Amino acid sequence: MTERAQEWRLARRPKGYPVAEDVELVEVDVPEPRPGEVLVRNAYVSVDPYMRGRMNDAASYAAPYQLGKAMWGGAVGHVASADDERFPVGTAVRHGKGWRTHATVRAGELERVDEAAAPLTAYLGVLGMPGLTAWVGLYDIAEVRPGETVWVSAASGAVGSLVGQLARLSGCRVIGSAGGPDKARALVDDLGFHAGLDHRAGDLEGQLRAAAPDGIDVYFENVGGDHLRAALAVLNPFGRIATCGMIAGYNEALPGPDNLFLVVAKKLTMRGFIVSDHGHRTAAFQRHVAPLLRDGQVVYPETVVDGIEQTFKAFVGMLRGGSHTGKLVVKVAG
Ligand code: NDP
Repeated sequence: MTERAQEWRLARRPKGYPVAEDVELVEVDVPEPRPGEVLVRNAYVSVDPYMRGRMNDAASYAAPYQLGKAMWGGAVGHVASADDERFPVGTAVRHGKGWRTHATVRAGELERVDEAAAPLTAYLGVLGMPGLTAWVGLYDIAEVRPGETVWVSAASGAVGSLVGQLARLSGCRVIGSAGGPDKARALVDDLGFHAGLDHRAGDLEGQLRAAAPDGIDVYFENVGGDHLRAALAVLNPFGRIATCGMIAGYNEALPGPDNLFLVVAKKLTMRGFIVSDHGHRTAAFQRHVAPLLRDGQVVYPETVVDGIEQTFKAFVGMLRGGSHTGKLVVKVAG
């Protein structure tokens, strides 16, 4: 039987949390590479919070997904066509055409990855875009220093889990927050954080004050809303906020915190960033983090969901929280 391909398309623009009718999984012919293109059989596709923004038709730092067209995002897989001598069949590669089983990719947009050095999935997480985000946010944006107290929200996720471990290795006291008592405990037990907060348990500010009696110096912002409010309340004078994301506001309106004036009163710095502006830091990031992975000083939790048909469900579960730990990827092929 001829092999068929599958791809996820955006059927309509979601209002609030995406629902099944907003997308469709379509069976198509395996795409034929044109001259200069390579056919890749995806092994894993990534689901990431930024993809929710691309479902909106709004001006943003990233172009929106087109209605009726395949969505896209990070993917790793193996070359399946034999036309380009730079990419022999079987070469492990990373590229930007996820949300599908097969992709034709211009050779110039393919990156080789080393399966002997790390599992393929790591190139979508700790050694990929989320890893670089964590590293740039902590060192270049927050400019963290030994002896400081750092709070990172969404701390058990792809970005947060690395932020906290790097901060600890840099001599900081590290507090993380995550949803539910098990996730909060795992931050301490599995990732070596000094304290884990459960944002579902309420009184986040009280929990933070108890974990940081001398205040915090850096807040690595992944959530927004009540988390930002608690950070502003507990940050020390001249504290810094690396504003990486505000996932609490991606599906519903998120009112600003009512204590924003503390930015003035405490002379705080709040600095946003987008990882794609920091590609020039990739080599420095890899030089620092790859050896830490090799000798086990940094661990990288992952949740692998099996089957392309599970991609959308996994994506919504990630947006709602509670469903995964570490980097969330979907396994498409063995
Ligand atoms: P995660 O793996 O951390 O997954 C998202 C997690 O956010 C959920 O699992 C959930 O964790 C938590 N969450 C969702 N909604 C809420 C809420 N209302 N309150 C509290 N927590 C919530 O994703 P990533 O590590 O990939 O991304 C983390 C952040 O970094 C996001 O904000 C993302 O947009 C941002 N980002 C920014 C980049 C940049 O260039 N600036 C690049 C990459 C990511 P739990 O179950 O613990 O509640």
